[in-house]
Amino acid sequence: MRVIRVLAPNPGIRELEGTNTWIVGDPPAVVIDPGPQDTGHLNEIVRSAGLVGAIALTHDHPDHAPGALPLASVTGAPVFAARPAEGMLRIRDGEWVSAGSTRLSVIATPGHTPDHLAFHVPAAGSLFTGDAVLGRGTSVIDPPEGDLTAYLRSLRRMRDLSPTTIYPGHGPVVLRARATLAERSWRKPATATTRCGERWNRSSLSRPVRGHPATSRRTALRAIARSPPASVESRKRSIVSIEWLDMIHDPRRLP
Ligand SMILES: [Zn+2]
Repeated sequence: MRVIRVLAPNPGIRELEGTNTWIVGDPPAVVIDPGPQDTGHLNEIVRSAGLVGAIALTHDHPDHAPGALPLASVTGAPVFAARPAEGMLRIRDGEWVSAGSTRLSVIATPGHTPDHLAFHVPAAGSLFTGDAVLGRGTSVIDPPEGDLTAYLRSLRRMRDLSPTTIYPGHGPVVLRARATLAERSWRKPATATTRCGERWNRSSLSRPVRGHPATSRRTALRAIARSPPASVESRKRSIVSIEWLDMIHDPRRLP
């Protein structure tokens, strides 16, 4: 199966070298994540693809989606997304995106965002993961859009597809796909602020942090509150770190 990467000119902390736009299959090809609206980048996609039959979005973030409608107007290809903007078509889990002889299975992978999708080509063992799995480092899970529990569930779902190759939204291709998905299930995301800390009641606060029997959650939270910088945001992030410790020391709590 033909897979071509066109790297968008938007390097950054979250974007790594830039957004990977993937051209999948012989012409007419499927284009995944046209990236930002950048004329040079869009021209390169059209030149590399030959003929574009469909455009698919992993999610609607500004480093993945704004090039989609301009690319559609140049190529005449439809745009598919789970949270479509005007002029796009909605796709859901279990459906297929097709162009020519290429068929991509749509896999709902919420966590980074609620609308996040991965695209799977079972016959090739290929999984296009957007920001759900990056080529290196960890995904950003930032509420209210980000959801840690949903993210873990999505990682397991992708692992159960047993892909051989991961084509991420940023960073290099991952060849040890299944091992990487298993490993990511145990790794703390780079940024995680869930509201799970707010669910704690008095009795749960007196329990120790798992793996740290001498430290109660209350003690841990007090330490966090005292330690600079004690912004509300940084406290929330620390609470999530404790919640994460709980999860990784008690696999039964994993979704
Ligand atoms: Zn991204």
